[in-house]
Amino acid sequence: MLPYSIFLVVSGLLLSVAERFWPREPRQGFFRREFGLDVLYLFFNAEVVGALVAIWITRTLPPEAILPLRNLLELNGLAAQPLWLQTIVLLVSKDFLQWLVHNLMHRVSALWQFHKTHHSSTNMDWLSNWRFHWFEIVVYQMVLYVPATLLGFSAEAAFGCAIISTAVGHFAHANLRVRIGFLKYIVNSPEMHTWHHVHPDAGPQDRNFAITFAFWDWLFGTVYLPAEFPKRLGIRLTSAAGR
Ligand SMILES: [Zn+2]
Ligand SMILES: [Zn+2]
Repeated sequence: MLPYSIFLVVSGLLLSVAERFWPREPRQGFFRREFGLDVLYLFFNAEVVGALVAIWITRTLPPEAILPLRNLLELNGLAAQPLWLQTIVLLVSKDFLQWLVHNLMHRVSALWQFHKTHHSSTNMDWLSNWRFHWFEIVVYQMVLYVPATLLGFSAEAAFGCAIISTAVGHFAHANLRVRIGFLKYIVNSPEMHTWHHVHPDAGPQDRNFAITFAFWDWLFGTVYLPAEFPKRLGIRLTSAAGR
């Protein structure tokens, strides 16, 4: 997926420039602590595991296996719709499923053991979007596969969806002190997602589960958005649970 790899690098570089102009944490340089570790996560999670899991899922659960169910539910119409409509429907449906799974990752202690890797960043920037346990890719790709296969989307819609959710993920993790006005009700952002990563000693836990769209948190009452940005990010290293 060369176009996706090019997008990864270009969007990362653009955000790195923006982070120099409007930093949330001005003392945090480009080569901040654990920069090398997160580059490894980026390469491993985005390029290696993502591709392997996609191959594994399509081999073990080919779309033809789901066709009888699709026909039964008469859900075949979406693949014939315009690309923009397919992309929006896929993006919203998979984002809601991922929002639910993200909730579970915080509330079920066995799942938190995997998800706490993502919360271990103490210096966040766009690259922190890629710090997570490979098991999370297995879970999230399978979640994406359900609406994509059941509703019959095109590969182009799935690609558009991956580009938009990665762009929002990079932006939400970026070291940026920016506010996005009324868009905070629609899309995830640094002002919202840094509070998701707040250290247990510096703010409430288990808020702002948004991945791409913010409105799930506003709808279900899990928003926490004070005027300031959090003072400290990360998890407790002194306890096994990290909390
Ligand atoms: Zn989380
Ligand atoms: Zn995050």
